[in-house]
Amino acid sequence: MAGIYIHIPFCKQACHYCNFHFSTHRGLQETMLEAIAQELKMQRDYMQGERVDSIYLGGGTPSLLEVAALDKLLVQVAQLFVLADDVEVTLEANPDDLHLVKLKELKVVGINRLSIGIQTFQDGLLRYLHRIHDSQQAIASVQGARKAGFDNLTIDLIYGIPTQGQAMWEADLTRALSLQPAHIAAYCLTIEPKTVFGHWQRKGKLTPVAEEVAARQFESLVETLEVNGYEHYEISNFSRPHHYARHNTNYWKQGSYLGVGPGAHSYNGQTRQCNVRHNQQYINGIQQGVIPCTVEVLHNKDHINEYIMTRLRTKWGCDLAWLKTQYGYDLQQEQRVRIDQFTAQQLVRLESSRLFLTKKGKLLADEITAALFVV
Ligand code: SF4
Repeated sequence: MAGIYIHIPFCKQACHYCNFHFSTHRGLQETMLEAIAQELKMQRDYMQGERVDSIYLGGGTPSLLEVAALDKLLVQVAQLFVLADDVEVTLEANPDDLHLVKLKELKVVGINRLSIGIQTFQDGLLRYLHRIHDSQQAIASVQGARKAGFDNLTIDLIYGIPTQGQAMWEADLTRALSLQPAHIAAYCLTIEPKTVFGHWQRKGKLTPVAEEVAARQFESLVETLEVNGYEHYEISNFSRPHHYARHNTNYWKQGSYLGVGPGAHSYNGQTRQCNVRHNQQYINGIQQGVIPCTVEVLHNKDHINEYIMTRLRTKWGCDLAWLKTQYGYDLQQEQRVRIDQFTAQQLVRLESSRLFLTKKGKLLADEITAALFVV
């Protein structure tokens, strides 16, 4: 399994919580697309000819591009890489970009999965988050996508928003279910320092929700979606049968991936690369024939920690026997005290040499994984 991620670093407006790399100044858009096309050529050997099973156009807001521009990128990927016959091609999209004509064109150029950034169906909250769309557009985008022939749809939701409250969150879940997407990703809002929300927090204008409130929302998320036939296969991801996000699953299963564009990350089993998070510096580098990135050579310890961090969050759990064979690391032996303690607290469970987070443990996933890391 291998994947290609293409980062389109432009948005129409900045959401108040967003810490991704993007710019609302779109003057560099054309030059950026040329640079990304050039980087694809420069990086064609990064995954050593592995077959590509998924392509993910993310950002930023890749749906703001003309379909012709997306098509050009996809044609180039197909020319440079060996693609699986059933390659998953996901476009991250904002509802306001998804009118029916465009949706039909997206289907024609080979996009076969849409990840729609809905976040909430409450207009007041959408304005608070500074999203560009409203709830009617959110609903219409899903209905339109279906009309255009997209049956592989995922929607993003956010909980833990100040002023959201349990009733509003449950109403969002009900509304989401009524649209019957194949997949739902739900994230707890984190207040990042370099965002408007981070600024508001420093000024005392915003108080993050209490941990118990977010925990209750997470619990109702899991309960509601499981009762309605979604499998909770990763902390933030829920899927109808056979609709796991192939691209993200490849990350969680340590598959190779090539990320192109500013701020994109790549991994090929030996190294991790991270492109500069600056549009002009990225373009300058590519134009001079150099990929502006930092390269980290991964050591045994990095592989082990990466494995623990990603796998523990999934339904597949941490395969302790595999970890031992692959990296010579006996997690059960090395962390016996902590694993026993977490087991007694019903935060983890050990089953057939695999370590899993329990329902209760999923609420503390970050703390538990950090405690199990090799330092
Ligand atoms: S549209 Fe997406 S990438 Fe752009 S600012 Fe909003 S959350 Fe961030």
